[in-house]
Amino acid sequence: MLIPKKSSQKISRKLSPEEKLAEAKRLCHIRCASECVDQKRKGLHQKLLKMRPHWSVLKRDEQHRTIDRGETEPFDIAIPLPAKDRKDPEKTSWGVDLFWERFRCTGCGRCCYTPGAGLYLDREDMERICQHLGWSMKRLKSLCRRDKAQKAWALKQPCPFYDSEGKGCTIYPVRPLTCTRYPLHPPLREMPYNLAVDAFCPAAREFVKETLGWWIVCETNWARMLRDMDEKEE
Ligand code: SF4
Ligand code: SF4
Repeated sequence: MLIPKKSSQKISRKLSPEEKLAEAKRLCHIRCASECVDQKRKGLHQKLLKMRPHWSVLKRDEQHRTIDRGETEPFDIAIPLPAKDRKDPEKTSWGVDLFWERFRCTGCGRCCYTPGAGLYLDREDMERICQHLGWSMKRLKSLCRRDKAQKAWALKQPCPFYDSEGKGCTIYPVRPLTCTRYPLHPPLREMPYNLAVDAFCPAAREFVKETLGWWIVCETNWARMLRDMDEKEE
């Protein structure tokens, strides 16, 4: 189990319960991120859920109903995997790695053909696609709209590169970076240390339902951090 070797930071003033929990989550992200991913991969949550069987059924139907709202409502859902550390993204991809290990895209194409999806292209995307297709930049831009606020080009929707009959991307090897990352989205403001997924993607919604039990590993580790902080305060 996760018992951090380093001691907690000195807490200079008494924190409110909310601040304390936020601090415990921050410490957990710093100290436990790689271990907790391994614990989830190895199924520690199954053992914990057996010890606290009520947890697995707690509000499950309600949570599933909330998740299913993603079918029609745009929102993101935090998942029990650590986001990369911004200071060292290359070496902290454990959570992202486990996500891709377990995520199963059904190839439904919703993310490619649904109007409204923001498919921004960066310079490298545009150059790569043009080179692959032997197109001029002007030709590619004719399939894009200019977002003045973001100062960026975005593919018009439905995506012109989606083949609705063959059900696939016609530029798959050189598709935009944003497509290679979908349905992962940046962390939510209220859950800054966890990965988040777009609830619009059906496979992401299934992933969220299947991994709800992983939160018990997070909760157990947060509780340890809180206990550690309490001990330091005494
Ligand atoms: S919406 Fe999700 S499941 Fe469907 S193609 Fe896109 S990533 Fe795959
Ligand atoms: S570029 Fe390819 S993967 Fe990206 S939205 Fe278009 S069809 Fe889908």
